[in-house]
Amino acid sequence: MRQTGTWQWRALGTIWSLGLLAACTGSGLGDGQALVDEAATALGGRDRLRQVKSIVMEGGGTNANLGQDLTPEATGQSFTVTDYRRVLSFTANALRSEQTRTPAFPYFQGTAPQKQIMGIDGDIGYNVSPLGVSVRVSETATRQRRIDMFHHPVAAVRAALEPGAELTNIRRDGQERLVDVAASTGVTFTLAIDGTSHLPTRVLSSWYDTNLGDVVLATAFSEYRDVDGVKMPARVVTTTDRWTTADLRFTHIELDGITGDMAAPEDAVRSRPAASVPEPVVDDEELAPGVWLLAGQSHHSVLIELADQLLLVEAPQHEARTLAVIRRGRELRPNKPLTRVVNTHHHFDHSGGIRAAVAEGLAVVTHRGNAAFFEEIVRRPHTANPDSLSRRGRALTLEPVDDAHEIADPTRAVQIFHVAGSPHTSTMLMVYLPREKLLIEADAFTPSAPAPYAANLLENIQRRGLAVDRIVPLHGIVVPFDALQKAVAPAAATD
Ligand SMILES: [Zn+2]
Repeated sequence: MRQTGTWQWRALGTIWSLGLLAACTGSGLGDGQALVDEAATALGGRDRLRQVKSIVMEGGGTNANLGQDLTPEATGQSFTVTDYRRVLSFTANALRSEQTRTPAFPYFQGTAPQKQIMGIDGDIGYNVSPLGVSVRVSETATRQRRIDMFHHPVAAVRAALEPGAELTNIRRDGQERLVDVAASTGVTFTLAIDGTSHLPTRVLSSWYDTNLGDVVLATAFSEYRDVDGVKMPARVVTTTDRWTTADLRFTHIELDGITGDMAAPEDAVRSRPAASVPEPVVDDEELAPGVWLLAGQSHHSVLIELADQLLLVEAPQHEARTLAVIRRGRELRPNKPLTRVVNTHHHFDHSGGIRAAVAEGLAVVTHRGNAAFFEEIVRRPHTANPDSLSRRGRALTLEPVDDAHEIADPTRAVQIFHVAGSPHTSTMLMVYLPREKLLIEADAFTPSAPAPYAANLLENIQRRGLAVDRIVPLHGIVVPFDALQKAVAPAAATD
């Protein structure tokens, strides 16, 4: 269950991403203005570009599942995108995109098609739910959409042609030539053009991700065709850092056509402030002597007391949530050190607090399949939004788990098992307390929600011969073991 990070983000004065592009600067590349003029000419001429009032793009393709796939590097879980329609209006200074995405994998929300509408109108970013309910999005999401408006060749080159635009750092990267553009609106991006055709190949911009830190968002353009005297890409591929996040083909592209209403929905959106991250609320409930559920919002953790130390299961969401959970854990048993956090799986909403936990001196217990990724997560720069780890710079102590791992002393045993064959993620761990007969798990089974992974969890529990009395899910409420059996039973009956 992904909750998009909505951290405050401050605009960067410079485009830091350049170091990642393996660029070489050098003389003989001409000035930025010449490069932009060449791109404008290749697209149809600066006068023609300036006449464009709006662009409508319709088609389909795929969306990836970044941060939620089977492994940290996997990109196999995709959504099929249909009825894609993206409208960019220069006259209204607005962008609106609509799509229907259908999971092509066993998704926790079910495999029904989901209609998505998102837009930005001036300074107001909004989403419209499948039921037609409009909400205003965060300042961070709004800023991202404002930058996204320039991730199109016509928008990028028009902005670069403006008299107030600053063009700097012209360089070459393979067949591409690149220039950094600081648009008169304050938005900064990098424009890449093909060395031969001079058509824009990519637009890149800097962004911040709670888990990944500083990232480059790139949109690649190809399959150009002529639309009313303007060369327009019929295929766009977007990447976040090294992960491909969308691959779309347009079957219909129209200039200055019918855009539809580009205004943000009046009632629910315009009068409301931008959405913000709620203050963390941590409620503790003692499930058994020395075992506390730390809940209060969407993502729970569990604190486990041993003879001379404390153990945390899960550092979820983001720094604010995880630090609040750690603080509460230390308040509950102030005389024992909190030494480790067990991470159930790498999904970004369940690992967004790992950096904060490392900054607090906790060792990380996770599946071996996450080891390289977590080492990278701890190393990655967070210059766009420095967090506690980037300020403290602590090293990662990793305890990778293959099949099973036990942390035990005379007072308690904590057994950590790989959830083999989980269709949710290959790197899933569950935590079992044999004396208390408690089974702690995340996403494998969430009571009162669709349960596509419940049968796999039950199989793993039975294969291990665990005598589970209660399931402690990290979403939702604690339930007796038979709630899991009942969730599986309808599926078992049709086998
Ligand atoms: Zn998950």
